[in-house]
Amino acid sequence: MERPNRRTLLKTGLLSIAGAAGMPSLSAAVESNSTPYNRPKLKITEIRTAEVRVHGYQVHVRVYTDAGIIGQGESTDASAGNVPLIHSFSRMLVGQDPLNIEAAFERIRTAGVFAGAQAGQYVTALTGVEIALWDIAGKALGVPVYQLLGGKVRDRVRVYCDSGEREMIPGDEQSKARIHEIQEMGFTAAKIDIDDARDPSRMDRVNWTASNGEIDHMIAKVAFTRSLYPKDYDLAVDMHARYDAGTGKRVAKELEPFKLMWLEEPVPAENIDAMRDIRASTNTPICCGENVYMRWGFRELFEKRAVDIVEPDFQKCGGLLEARKISDMAHTYYVPVAPHAVTSPIGMMGTAQVCAVIPNFLAQEWHWIDSRDLWRNWVKEGDIIQKGFITLPDRPGLGVEMNDEAARKAQVPGTPWFEPMKRS
Ligand code: MG
Repeated sequence: MERPNRRTLLKTGLLSIAGAAGMPSLSAAVESNSTPYNRPKLKITEIRTAEVRVHGYQVHVRVYTDAGIIGQGESTDASAGNVPLIHSFSRMLVGQDPLNIEAAFERIRTAGVFAGAQAGQYVTALTGVEIALWDIAGKALGVPVYQLLGGKVRDRVRVYCDSGEREMIPGDEQSKARIHEIQEMGFTAAKIDIDDARDPSRMDRVNWTASNGEIDHMIAKVAFTRSLYPKDYDLAVDMHARYDAGTGKRVAKELEPFKLMWLEEPVPAENIDAMRDIRASTNTPICCGENVYMRWGFRELFEKRAVDIVEPDFQKCGGLLEARKISDMAHTYYVPVAPHAVTSPIGMMGTAQVCAVIPNFLAQEWHWIDSRDLWRNWVKEGDIIQKGFITLPDRPGLGVEMNDEAARKAQVPGTPWFEPMKRS
């Protein structure tokens, strides 16, 4: 049986009764037998990485501590070239307390101001490390990460299914089968791509002004897909940041009758004014964010009212606390958050930990429909998505542990697998 401490005795009233009844000796005895809570004292000892390729390139990070607790994180999408960056961060991390996550983040971020720390691979590499620190913090304190990020406002998070590499070709039997499959799996929302570099109506291999023929094909794909999902099913459409502003406007306008959940990146993300012009020209909700980094990147999107929905990638945009901060900024503009996610179950659970705590969460992506064997076996806990939702586990930290044997099937040939880093 657990020894009663000051808190439990206070709860039962024993301590106060002892004091009030003038029993100083009992009171003192209770005090002297109580153990004040001690914050765990840990130090980072080492960082190791592994590289995989599933939907794009991913780097998995393990941060080791002197208490034997190991945290795991994942950086994705902008993760090619992350490994040397992560190893360069270790001189700022080894010997430090892993529970001071904000301090570690700021140390690495500000150290890289002249080395690209504003966006891109530097931030993505930092993201993988930051997520591993949250896993350590949860494990050290015995609570899930969501508890440390403010506590959950929902027990499960809605996941939408990206339709995968299969294009939706109107009338095509395999496309119909994929749409049926997604519904059978229990999802309530899906996303399709309508950009097509190989469209026969494309007039130029370099310029991305869509011809009438291309736009007709785009609309036909959406009409076909929309007709096969029930009316209450949500559908998002991605243009992958390829087209020019005129094309973006035309497509957004023509898609209005389909009442999309959103149209994603009709133009590239770096010119926020162009995104805002498209949003102002249409009733189709405009979504952007997977190619935007940290609060400073998102600030202009919100201030210029350039989006209806944001889709930060939590394995890329700066980490879980940064994702919470971006989401809170979005909330002040009444903008919902639908995280982009093409990650393994580890990254997906990291994303879900944040989605559980933000009031303005809409839906979280899943992009491994073409890699389902890997998906099911990647972590020891099995398939974390049930009927289109992730239920947050009560386990400490991220709540999932990698099954190395399964994950190694996706290892990038010739790269180390969590081996000690060679010091140069
Ligand atoms: Mg996208």
